[in-house]
Amino acid sequence: MSDLPMLINGLKVTAERNATFERRNPLDGTVATRAPAASPADAVMAVEAAAEAFKTWSETGPGMRRALLLKAADLLEARTPQFIEAISAETGATGMWGGFNVFLAAGMLREAAALTTQIVGEVIPSDVPGSLAMAIRQPAGVVLGIAPWNAPVILGVRAIATPLACGNTVILKGSENCPRTHQLIIETLQEAGFPPGVVNYITNAPADAGAVVEAIVAHPAVRRVNFTGSTRVGRLIAMTCAKYLKPAVLELGGKAPLLVLDDADLDDAVNGAAFGSFANSGQICMSTERLIVDEKVAESFVRKLATKAKSLPLGDPRKPEPVVLGSVIGMSTVEHCNALIDDAIAKGAKLVCGGKADSTLMPATLLDHVTPAMRIYREETFGPVKAIVRVRGIEEAIACANDNEYGLSAAVFGRDVARAMNVARRIDTGICHVNGPTVHDEAQMPFGGVKGSGFGRFGGRAGVHEFTELRWVTVQTTPRQYPF
Ligand code: NAD
Repeated sequence: MSDLPMLINGLKVTAERNATFERRNPLDGTVATRAPAASPADAVMAVEAAAEAFKTWSETGPGMRRALLLKAADLLEARTPQFIEAISAETGATGMWGGFNVFLAAGMLREAAALTTQIVGEVIPSDVPGSLAMAIRQPAGVVLGIAPWNAPVILGVRAIATPLACGNTVILKGSENCPRTHQLIIETLQEAGFPPGVVNYITNAPADAGAVVEAIVAHPAVRRVNFTGSTRVGRLIAMTCAKYLKPAVLELGGKAPLLVLDDADLDDAVNGAAFGSFANSGQICMSTERLIVDEKVAESFVRKLATKAKSLPLGDPRKPEPVVLGSVIGMSTVEHCNALIDDAIAKGAKLVCGGKADSTLMPATLLDHVTPAMRIYREETFGPVKAIVRVRGIEEAIACANDNEYGLSAAVFGRDVARAMNVARRIDTGICHVNGPTVHDEAQMPFGGVKGSGFGRFGGRAGVHEFTELRWVTVQTTPRQYPF
């Protein structure tokens, strides 16, 4: 069991009145972590430390920021075993998922390091004689990053890496479900040598999240907010940001469709579908949630996918044998998925493999012949339970893919790549892969969604645009003519 500190102004601190909360392991209920339960006053202290540090950090050159981010990437990788242990203790995820998290998160720190010299502006022709007019990007100020538990290292790092590269100071608000995993990120950045106050970390008890977040957003020094999590909480945060006119990047839920066209290479599609559906037990925002299959190939596709799904090992991730499916985050996911399975079967869906679970070890589950009348057609399962919808032809496949409130990731499988690409263009999502899985993230790519999946983009230059202030600055180089 870990007892954690928060980090404010370079100091390891407890919360006001030493308040704490516990995170329990989802499989056996043992206490995994005891973490500080910050009050709104603690949160304000973190903002003030970040605001003070911004004065000097925002003036540092790219070389210093790059060196610190690169050092942090190396140190993060060196701690891989620690991260894997913390992730499986707090969230029940597998060693494979933990290792991948550290690998991609280190890549995000290196990409952020590279961006430090890519924060470019432009000179714009002015109609005023002698006016040198520029659009320049400056650090925005204090950035609040709020990250979830499901890809904890990737999303914790993503919330702060590009903001830091741009010369902002940051506060990471850790997830109540993995405070230790998020704290390890912060410990790593501190070890890399970021000056006091540049990186701050707070944790809160679940009931205090709204008050703590509002205290931070309300502070005038906070100039950007980013949130990765559910659409329900994203809306609450958007309303708080609207109240204080703070720009936000919102990376929210998903219900990714994977379209199998009638000319798809079925083995390829099955491999992409299995990976996208069952990696981290389906608890990824880009997880394949709807398999939309042309009826001409459906029998064969479903049979092959079921064989693959049944072969995926499931078990306690803390044991030595490697598993593909570990524990889901908690019994609320099990109850949610069980209810979706009951509802679908009662309305005529066919259970192909897997089924309801009575513990957080949930098997890979496929439901065929899903229709719009069933809850699973629309609702995010965020577990290893997947809907198969059979469609007739391309138009029906596209209509089905777009018949959803979310719009984060999608995939299209078809051998005629031009035809598949034309389908991809008509799918209303931020991300779409032709002949690749819905689950795919790289640090330099513009990552984000549309519709109920939120707005704003992380990754590469798109991230620089989110976390800098674009200013119009002119220099009058000759005497200016005035009308009076
Ligand atoms: P969640 O929305 O339940 O919680 C995330 C955070 O919200 C926590 O830090 C919590 O403290 C905070 N929070 C809760 N209530 C709040 C309130 N009233 N005001 C302010 N903050 C509050 O999400 P989760 O269960 O941790 O994550 C799962 C969800 O995240 C899924 O829907 C998934 O699709 C989505 N997700 C999206 C992406 C993406 O990049 N688009 C990535 C991963 C996960």
